[in-house]
Amino acid sequence: MEKNIQQKDAGSRKPLRGIRIRTLNYVMILISVVLYVFLVFVTVFASRKYDAMMSHTDAYIDYQELASLVASGSDYLTEQVRLYAVEMDPVNVREYFKEVYETRSRDGALEKLQEYGTGQEAYAYLHSALQESNRLMGQEIYAMKLVAAAQGQDLSEYEDIQEMELEEQDLGLSPEELVDRARELVFGSSYQDSKAVIEEEISRFLDSVKGNMQYAQQHSADQLKRIMSGQRILISVLFVETIMTFVLILCLIVKPLHIYVNNIKEEKRLDITGAYEFRYLALTYNNIYELNAANELMLRHQAEDLRHQAEHDPLTGIANRGAFEEWKTLLKAKANPLALLIIDVDKFKLVNDGYGHEAGDKVLKKVASLLVETFRETDMPARIGGDEFAVIIVDITIEKKQIIEEKIGSLNQLLMHPEDSLPAVSLSVGGAFSHAGFHDDLYGKADAALYVVKENGRCGCRFYEDCSEEGLLEEG
Ligand code: GH3
Ligand code: MG
Repeated sequence: MEKNIQQKDAGSRKPLRGIRIRTLNYVMILISVVLYVFLVFVTVFASRKYDAMMSHTDAYIDYQELASLVASGSDYLTEQVRLYAVEMDPVNVREYFKEVYETRSRDGALEKLQEYGTGQEAYAYLHSALQESNRLMGQEIYAMKLVAAAQGQDLSEYEDIQEMELEEQDLGLSPEELVDRARELVFGSSYQDSKAVIEEEISRFLDSVKGNMQYAQQHSADQLKRIMSGQRILISVLFVETIMTFVLILCLIVKPLHIYVNNIKEEKRLDITGAYEFRYLALTYNNIYELNAANELMLRHQAEDLRHQAEHDPLTGIANRGAFEEWKTLLKAKANPLALLIIDVDKFKLVNDGYGHEAGDKVLKKVASLLVETFRETDMPARIGGDEFAVIIVDITIEKKQIIEEKIGSLNQLLMHPEDSLPAVSLSVGGAFSHAGFHDDLYGKADAALYVVKENGRCGCRFYEDCSEEGLLEEG
């Protein structure tokens, strides 16, 4: 069937084209899936970049904490050694070494820093701060040794103090002098300078970390910006694709459907429009539609032919007896005045006998066509027998009988003086009038009048009304 349609289409019209709904569907699904996958990918990527950006800030906070651990560890040692130098309470010595060997704020911070793997430069700064702090520890332990010696306190439990030897110049000092010397060591300007060095290294460490972080953050922010603009483009493309899908559905499906429904309602052929499937349907429908229309036309013509055959005389082509009988029935119900003429060819047998049956047929045809020409279009001529014709003249009264008589007269003139090769003939005509519609006795009256004409020499026209008035009928 599809082949037939395409063949027919190729033969008579443009080839069947149009986007296939199925193809369009697959293409749109594919585009959507690809776009959505990209969008998901880009969104995940963007969120990772954002997390990375945030992690730089978190790392900076961690580094700050580590730096503050180193600083606070160093300051705690300073605080404890200074307290011991002032108050000379061994508790501070214990706290001091507790920080050095147990709490280990400074070493712990550096170890963590190594774990985090910050930049070498930053690590070097904090390492240098720790080294300076450790160097300062020697000075602090020596100060504690001096105070312990001045106070005669036994601090042999602390290995670092135990191992520390008093310098020669300090051996001969009095207890007060030893304490002063110790205080000088932990409060003096050299100590302050070292503390400043530690602070400076820590501050350099923070600057370095901050610089690294800002650089990494800027890098991540740039990447995030690029990803976001890609995301915007993808969303725009998706939006366009969605709008395009709606437009295509409208043009290829909704609009054609609307048109087809209207076409079918109006019993018209379908426009070849829309998607391939709709075009195919329209073409199939149109083929069936045309086939139906052709069949209908043929049946109508056949019916018309049959009707024509049933109502017309095959020889003359005018209405036959059957049609005449139908007219009579129809006109019975009418109120209009009318006249009936019954026309018979005079001595027609002689024509047949003298000129042959064929010539007789031609004469009958000629009589029929002259009757059609002579009377009005609204009048109804019919062949009701062999050489017998009838004419129903509508909307006429007896006052106008003369017109009929003149028409018959000129008809007879034409037939009696033929210009063709056919034999001359004449007509006898009997007529009758009715005031309203076709009476049952009208035919009999016209026939009676015809009889009168036949009896009185033929070739003429008489009306029943006149014959009756003249008393010809009783005589006949
Ligand atoms: P009248 O004047 O009394 O009418 O005499 P007529 O010879 O015409 O007599 P009638 O009307 O009775 O004759 C009719 C003749 O018409 C008889 C028949 O042979 C002839 N006829 C009938 N039908 C046809 C036809 O179709 N063709 C031909 N050629 N002749 C026909
Ligand atoms: Mg006759």
